[in-house]
Amino acid sequence: MSSKPIAVVTGGAGFIGSHMVDLLLDRGFRVRVIDNLACGRQSNLDHHSGDPDLEFLRKDINELEPGEAVFGDARHVFHFAGIGEIVPSIERPTSYMETNIGGTVRVLECARHAGVEKLVYAASSSCYGLASTPTDEGHPIAPQYPYALSKYQGEQAVHHWGKIYRLGVNSIRIFNAYGPRVRTTGTYGAVFGVFLKQKLEGRPLTVVGDGTQRRDFVYVTDVCEAFFRAAQSSRSGEIWNLGSGNPQPINRLVELLGGEVVHVPERPGEPRETFADIRKIRRELDWEPRVPFEDGVARMLAGIERWRDAPLWDPDSIAIATRTWFEFLGARS
Ligand code: UDP
Repeated sequence: MSSKPIAVVTGGAGFIGSHMVDLLLDRGFRVRVIDNLACGRQSNLDHHSGDPDLEFLRKDINELEPGEAVFGDARHVFHFAGIGEIVPSIERPTSYMETNIGGTVRVLECARHAGVEKLVYAASSSCYGLASTPTDEGHPIAPQYPYALSKYQGEQAVHHWGKIYRLGVNSIRIFNAYGPRVRTTGTYGAVFGVFLKQKLEGRPLTVVGDGTQRRDFVYVTDVCEAFFRAAQSSRSGEIWNLGSGNPQPINRLVELLGGEVVHVPERPGEPRETFADIRKIRRELDWEPRVPFEDGVARMLAGIERWRDAPLWDPDSIAIATRTWFEFLGARS
């Protein structure tokens, strides 16, 4: 029996989760991944195939029961599994609530019964809604769509388990994470995937509005370092915002990628700016963003071939894909 510490990563075949697996193996952990492969890809872990320190369980978090063997003797649980994206959450709110809240409760119960030291929850900055910036952890909560609500209520469950059952828990509210292995398939979503495919095909980049809106992009390895520190820390019951604290205009991303541009209409409920106040995580976890935006974008460009089979979006298909968005989020803003 190896004496290495054990970590469980839910959603470990997904974008951030698979980078978390890399970091944990690198730091001498045995890692157990739980993933239903609905959004994650087995190939995100191919570079570890044959590694005896990595175990993979294909399972939906909605099917977990206390006593699940995968949690046995685990020191840390990193909970990334869940479903994302705005539009499908408006169309199918029940599955978002079931998975992002109910599934989280199942993960908490497994962690509690296994006596894990610390669970770290991947929370979303979308809980703040149209926030004032820079946004700190005390900012009022105002979810704008079911995905945001479900991730926030999942986070509340995490802290409730921390209080009632004295499970060691922390949550990290991620702003705009990006990096290699970001999802390339499925519904219209995150800007990097949309633009990289357009770039690869020599098609114009679909810039929303005038492109002066800013996003707090944070590179995925920086995200995983923060999660690791949140697990190792003696603190519990904490919430940390996680961004680079240096928001970039979409036009800057366009400039770094290069190519033609076409403009598509602004969507209701989209913030003009996301901007994490990262003083708390800097102070309490001694964490710093390490990868400058320019370097991160260059690394994405180096891996652009991955987008070969990704869906190609244009203004017409985006108009169709975002119809629900305008319909349900339009009236209030
Ligand atoms: N965006 C864009 N073109 C697209 C998709 C997104 O210009 O085809 C912009 C969008 O307006 C936003 C930024 O890219 O300012 C990030 O969008 P994403 O959906 O990745 O993240 P979120 O808006 O949820 O922060």
